[in-house]
Amino acid sequence: MSNGNSADAVSAPLETAALISRFEENFGRLPDGVWQAPGRVNLIGEHTDYNEGFVLPFAIDKTARVAVAARPDSTIRLLSTYGGQGLTTADLTSLDSAAARGWTKYPLGVIWALQQRGIEVPGIDLLLDSDVPLGAGLSSSHAIECAVISALNELTGAGLQAEEMVLATQQAENDFVGAPTGIMDQSASLRGAKGHAVFLDCRTQEVQLVPFEAEPAGLVMLVIDTKVQHSHADGGYASRRASCELGAEVLGVPALRDVTVDDLEEASGLLDEVTFRRVRHVVMENDRVLQTVELLARQGPGAIGALLDASHVSMRDDFEISCPELDLAVDASRRNGAIGARMTGGGFGGAAIALTPVAAEAEVRAAVVNAFADAGYGKPDIFTVTPAAGAHRIS
Ligand code: ADP
Ligand code: MG
Repeated sequence: MSNGNSADAVSAPLETAALISRFEENFGRLPDGVWQAPGRVNLIGEHTDYNEGFVLPFAIDKTARVAVAARPDSTIRLLSTYGGQGLTTADLTSLDSAAARGWTKYPLGVIWALQQRGIEVPGIDLLLDSDVPLGAGLSSSHAIECAVISALNELTGAGLQAEEMVLATQQAENDFVGAPTGIMDQSASLRGAKGHAVFLDCRTQEVQLVPFEAEPAGLVMLVIDTKVQHSHADGGYASRRASCELGAEVLGVPALRDVTVDDLEEASGLLDEVTFRRVRHVVMENDRVLQTVELLARQGPGAIGALLDASHVSMRDDFEISCPELDLAVDASRRNGAIGARMTGGGFGGAAIALTPVAAEAEVRAAVVNAFADAGYGKPDIFTVTPAAGAHRIS
């Protein structure tokens, strides 16, 4: 069952010069600058972030860009090239999360979070253009937030470090947008680097950039956007978080991060069957992240296929956050030459990734499309991603 409204197609990104002239047409003057922030793909480490564990996402070559000009008054004017929502006007002095509509929650949430930190934000005119697919699990929302916070950090002279911007965007998502997300997405978007994955310790925010380039290894990273989002996604996410909290409480640890693979046998006797499987996913997934980092360093991306596969099986069977479309994307990819594949993102829809030899790319793409058609599913969107730069100013 799918509500079918996710992952609306976004068009190709505007050239920076075109974005600036679009800004000028709409706001009657030039922007102060243009800032860009990427979406992300999580290579491995799913539902580990809120358990204070490890994740290994990378910033992708699909980005949100915002052209922004500060205003002398308290007015906020927001416009997106996507969606035909028209101009949204708000006021700095009365930001109201309940009244905020659509994508404007993200920039308004960021402004609100900065205000919570005592930072004086000016009124702004802002034009957004993004080619990060919406709701595909590539974090189009954080791409917007990270572009906006990069712009405002500079325009206000606040000088926030990346770690602080990560917390501010988390506060925006959690308390203004109302999405109970962790710190992975914005860490990848703000701290990613070209040709690298971001090995993040979600307890300490410590980051290590790990070289990850598929191309020199004769591979491509395919994203298969199933374009479905099942209606129980929000409830499913909340209940998985609750299971993890329960598991940590029963096991007497601050977070599941503190449970090791060796502890699992004892844990199985202390937890009910379902909670145990949830805990086992998190513990094993943390371990898989560490193994992936090690393998990437020692042998490169060609060596991590089995870990991607194991991650998917764990999400399908232990954490139970996959769905038939994601399982089919993964199975069809693997049967037709991918060396490893897994669903990525929160689950219950969204996208899968398939690490695929260049020579098998066409076959995998065709096989997945055919398998979806045979199953009576809508056509998936399939594209390649490469690890790209984190948020920065582009003009
Ligand atoms: P995800 O972050 O996984 O893509 P979310 O549900 O968190 O999914 O965020 C998707 C929402 O972000 C959309 O519903 C829309 O409100 C907003 N959004 C993303 N990109 C754009 C854009 N280019 N223009 C307008 N709104 C956008
Ligand atoms: Mg999001």
